Amino acid sequence: DLRLTKFTKRFGDVTVIDKMDLTVRSGEMMALLGPSGCGKSTTLFAICGIHKMDGGTLHFGEEEVTRLPAQQRPVGVVFQNYALYPHMTVAQNIAFPLRVQRKTRSEITDEVGRMAELVQISNLLDRRPAQLSGGQQQRVALARAMVRKPDVLLLDEPLANLDAKLRLEMRSEIRRIQRETGITAILVTHDQVEAMSMCDRIALMKDGGIVQLDTPMGMYTDPADKFVAGFLGNPP
Ligand code: ATP
Ligand code: MG
Repeated sequence: DLRLTKFTKRFGDVTVIDKMDLTVRSGEMMALLGPSGCGKSTTLFAICGIHKMDGGTLHFGEEEVTRLPAQQRPVGVVFQNYALYPHMTVAQNIAFPLRVQRKTRSEITDEVGRMAELVQISNLLDRRPAQLSGGQQQRVALARAMVRKPDVLLLDEPLANLDAKLRLEMRSEIRRIQRETGITAILVTHDQVEAMSMCDRIALMKDGGIVQLDTPMGMYTDPADKFVAGFLGNPP
């Protein structure tokens, strides 16, 4: 399990997250859902270590990682803009996290090949990011995030830059990859349809806290309050 306990985050004297608890079970895909500014990305950044926490603890299984530097945390991250290295080929992009690990050349080639197969871009390894579609770029970003076999995959609005058709396709692709690998995943989104169609459970956030945490069906049939009912019922 991934366990966030009494997580608090301040920017200056503004407290944007106040003693939030969240447990994500091993192998599940959890949505952090909520309106703009509710603290979804802030929570994700704390989990991956980009932001330090101002209070509370973070555990991956038995291990406390609250003060572990971002590079040493067993997480893979995909951001909205993918942040691929434009001057590198697809293969070099995927290989990048492995090169800092002193792997041999043949180990790296094997791993890159395996990841390319998983995300189905084996035929694109020699291209550069500018020569790829948005969906293909996202597959590369997923492969790069997963190549070090992280314990947790963190996705911050990974579909926001895609057109409607690709977004549908990549919803099921991300879910397939998550299921095939059995990786624990957190998906940040403001789109309730995305959260409901992709995730095992949803943590619905508002003003820096979790209002309700349930399965998509549970939340839909038994919303905790008017905010939840309204948020699930009104597509943005
Ligand atoms: P969105 O859906 O728009 O991405 P979000 O739920 O990801 O929203 P966060 O980015 O986590 O929201 O922001 C939560 C709150 O913290 C917001 O009120 C935001 O203005 C504030 N905030 C975020 N980053 C900073 C920062 N670096 N400095 C000051 N305030 C910040
Ligand atoms: Mg955000």
